Amino acid sequence: MCLFCKIVDGDIPSKKIYEDDEFLCFEDINRLSKIHILIIPKKHIESFEDILPQTMANMTKTIQTITKKLDINKSGYRLITNIAKDGGQEVKHLHFHLLSGEKLGAMYKK
Ligand code: 5GP
Ligand code: ZN
Repeated sequence: MCLFCKIVDGDIPSKKIYEDDEFLCFEDINRLSKIHILIIPKKHIESFEDILPQTMANMTKTIQTITKKLDINKSGYRLITNIAKDGGQEVKHLHFHLLSGEKLGAMYKK
């Protein structure tokens, strides 16, 4: 079972921010900004390449709910998903990084 599936099952502890039937949101263990959370489908999906458009629509709604709940929907945030080898994806369970809580610098670095 993959690392994030274990987090969904509660076998590995996490700091949960939000959850609904389909998605879970928890703090990244290695925070890169004041707010750095991960949003994942509870069902194992390897990457953005594998998510069905209708599931992605639900995920969009969940992310928007979370940004409102954290009151960053207006001040702003950065949403990133890394895909496969060249995308630098380390955990092979789809996740969106949501970074916020401060003014973020330019990110287009190798
Ligand atoms: P990736 O490089 O795959 O896009 O990002 C994986 C992210 O998962 C990294 O930011 C890393 O800090 C985070 N991460 C790895 N292991 C754990 C863990 O056990 N718990 C939590 N909360 N985050 C983790
Ligand atoms: Zn998984």
